[in-house]
Parts: sequence; C-alpha cells; structure tokens
Amino acid sequence: MKKIIIGAHVSTAGGLYTAFDRAQLIGAEAVQIFGSSPRAWRAKMPTKEECEKFKKEREKYSISHVFLHAAYLVNLASGNSDIFLNSKQSLIDHLSIAEMIGADGLIFHIGSSKGITRSEALLQEIEAMREIISRVPGKAKLIMENTAGGGDKVGDSIKEMGELYKKTGSDRLGICFDTAHAFEAGWVESYTKDSVKKLFDEFDKEIGIENLCAIHANDSMTDSGSYHDRHANIGEGKVGETGFRALFSDKRLHSIPWILEVPGVGDGPDRKNIDELNKIFK
Ligand SMILES: [Zn+2]
Repeated sequence: MKKIIIGAHVSTAGGLYTAFDRAQLIGAEAVQIFGSSPRAWRAKMPTKEECEKFKKEREKYSISHVFLHAAYLVNLASGNSDIFLNSKQSLIDHLSIAEMIGADGLIFHIGSSKGITRSEALLQEIEAMREIISRVPGKAKLIMENTAGGGDKVGDSIKEMGELYKKTGSDRLGICFDTAHAFEAGWVESYTKDSVKKLFDEFDKEIGIENLCAIHANDSMTDSGSYHDRHANIGEGKVGETGFRALFSDKRLHSIPWILEVPGVGDGPDRKNIDELNKIFK
C-alpha cells in the first residue's frame, strides 16, 4: 500500500529554511510555515539569498510539499474597506513569497462578512481572489480552507465553497480540508465510513476532488456543530481515532498530504501526533 504523506506546521524561527530541520526531527514529510509574521499586515519579503538557501536546503530533505499559511488577520469578506484592502495586499505578498521559495501554495481562511450582505461578500471574495492570482504570476496556488462556521462566516458549506471556486474560475485556486473545522461546522455528526463517503461525494460534485490540495489533520476539542474552533491532539478530541480511521477509509484522500496543526504539548505538532496518525492509518 502507498504510504500516506503526513506533514506538520512548523516554526521558522531563525530563518525560513530552518523549517526542514524541525520537520525532520518530528518525522514530518511535508511542511506548512508562515512566510512572514502571521500577526502583521505588512509582510517582510525574503531576500534572494534567503529564497536560494530555502530551495537548496529543501533538496537535502525528503519533503514532498511546502505550504504557506496566511496571516491570522486576513479577511477577504470583510465589509471594512481597510481590513479588506490590507487582506488583499497581505495575500498578494504571501503568495509572492510562496512563488519565490517554490512552495506549492498559500492556505488562507475565507473570512467573515461582517458589515456587508452575504452576496456582497461572496462577490468581493471572488473578485479579490481573481486579482490576487493575476497579480502573482506563477504556479503557487491560492488555497481556500474551510472554516469552523458560525456567525457571518463565508464558505461554511461545501456548496458555498463550490460557488466561490467555480465563480473565481482559476486552476490556480485550490482547497484545503480541515478535519476539525468541518466537524465543528457540523458537516458531519461524526466521521464514519458512510458520512465520509457522502461528504467527499458532495465535495467532488461541487468543487472537484482533484482540486483538494491539502488536508489539515486536526482533532477537535469541541462538539460537532459547535462552531467553535479548538484543535486537539490526534485521538484526544471528539473526532477521535475512529473518526480518523473513517477518513482514511476514503481512498480519494490517500494521495493528499495530511498536515498536522495540533497543539502537541503546547509548541505545535510533535512526533507523538505523527506516530499516532501513522498508527491509525496502518
Ligand atoms: Zn487548519
């Protein structure tokens, strides 16, 4: 059987290239990093030397995929024009960094339509995604991640994500499926063989399974339908070992990298979580 790729979000303290060493230490085969500070609007662009170092360093490790995660502040669906314009610029900058270092794509949260109607927010989001992609020529994908739902969250159903996907109309748009968020948004009551099949049948119909670029493999501290985003270590949350085993039962997910964002013992994904997922996937 083909081995599943399990990766992790890792720190880049000390330079972007340091991600690979941290990944290897915990046994991660794919990485997600922040291309610049996740807490700032303005991105610090890496120098040419830093980009070269990153690419050269990558060759020493067996890392299959590199993803960037966008800044926390980003909200392309916001009715506040300052927030919207800053979000758009931030995504342009971070997607540029992805392109510069040869990353596969930039994963971002779709956002929340505070201050405008849902249809205005969807239109704004679609136009902005088109602009971001056209402003950053290249191969790196702009990747929408599903949310834990609730409030004015946009793209809180597969159908609405599909609408965003189709209306943006770019093959450089991708999707990241977060196992905790989908559960928290109430897309499934629990992950079972049947509910997983049904979910990804719908995903395939509305979005196209070939557009799934990454899975965020997170357990959830909160219940299904809680709309409350709290990641838990693999097997220690409400998704549980049985939930991950059910997800694994869908062969369509076997070729996708599974990226952990779980807390570990507080510092983020660790070897214990990777081993746990490997054990479940056996
Ligand atoms: Zn996530």
